[in-house]
Amino acid sequence: MLILVVNCGSSSIKYKLMDMEQENVLLSGLAERIGISGSRIKQENSKGEELVLEQDLPNHKVALENILKCITDAKYGAVSDVIEIKAVGHRVVHGGEKFNQSVVINEELIKVLEEMSELAPLHNPPNIVGIKTCQELMPHAAQVAVFDTAFHAAMPKEAYTYAIPYEYYEKYGIRRYGFHGTSHKFVSRRAAEILGKPVEDLKIIVCHLGNGSSISAVGKGVSQDTSMGFTPLPGLPMGTRTGDIDPAIIPFLMEKEKLSVDEIGNILNKKSGVLGVSGLSSDFRDLEDAAQQGNERAELALSMFAYSIIKYVGAYTAALGGLDALVFTGGIGENSKNVRARVLKAFAYTGLEIDEEKNNSRGKEVIISKEGSPFVAMVVPTNEELMIARETKELVQ
Ligand code: ADP
Repeated sequence: MLILVVNCGSSSIKYKLMDMEQENVLLSGLAERIGISGSRIKQENSKGEELVLEQDLPNHKVALENILKCITDAKYGAVSDVIEIKAVGHRVVHGGEKFNQSVVINEELIKVLEEMSELAPLHNPPNIVGIKTCQELMPHAAQVAVFDTAFHAAMPKEAYTYAIPYEYYEKYGIRRYGFHGTSHKFVSRRAAEILGKPVEDLKIIVCHLGNGSSISAVGKGVSQDTSMGFTPLPGLPMGTRTGDIDPAIIPFLMEKEKLSVDEIGNILNKKSGVLGVSGLSSDFRDLEDAAQQGNERAELALSMFAYSIIKYVGAYTAALGGLDALVFTGGIGENSKNVRARVLKAFAYTGLEIDEEKNNSRGKEVIISKEGSPFVAMVVPTNEELMIARETKELVQ
């Protein structure tokens, strides 16, 4: 069964065509700068051959039309006709409280998704445009929505309720939703497979560390708590996002600096995190290089990041009532031995020992704690597209 996975952002569309018999990637691509000058599509097939289409992409519809042309390209494509594609799996950022699992999309569901855009104004509208356009261009294919929030929908009430007047939860749905759910689900299941135990029997903490970072406590196979909240802003300090801060800082700063709601939002989302603290970069490679050369604020940003992870791991171990596996994933979690070592050293008091040689690896599945440690520390590269394709396949079968 051929499944197209589509991740529609505000100015880009990532896609992957998968053959789900063997879970093979037939091709993957990216349409970028949609609606901006200099737009193009870059695609790579399973032979590693690249197709670059420099073309004006004024909107998502034109972009998707051209993506379908690239997919069916006689030389660089993977199918001769889009009719061969059975289903399209769409990444949808916010499923609110209504969607605790993936769904096959129909007209009624699109309306519900549109109503929910208020909760994710930057992300859900392009996701919906992607769904509607694929319905139009591929009417034969089932369209499935896979939500970033769905895996966290099982969180208990005490984990998702904020201590603000309860009426705001009832009126506006203000509560913790959590994000990166597709990744937390994929990684926790894969970790259980590697450990050879049912995921339901394990207590797992997943650290998804990338430009956006979140941690989840996975118990009984579902998310019991997670560090992101009503929006993807709280939790760990990120590339440019604050993570947890005292909320009173916001009105204080707005008053002192005479900032509008948009301006403070921009500071919290785009100018904070490790970029804000270091004044240097949001990229951990730059920070690690600078810290090594003695840049104190780069070092401060890195140690704040690690310290925040350490605190969450401590808290979630207590919340889960123990810990079997601590898993690192995402661009930083998979690639930075330095971040992993900084975090794991804090747990030496439990008897945890790092296998330095195994930790000295990048982008690979590997157990990095020594045998006999009280819990297993490991790296599991995430694969959100595969998870979306699996969920899509399950629903359309
Ligand atoms: P996104 O959240 O956008 O999906 P990724 O998961 O791709 O982000 O992570 C991107 C981040 O991974 C980069 O900002 C960079 O800081 C980090 N990263 C990638 N490779 C390395 C590396 N070798 N060492 C340290 N950090 C790395």
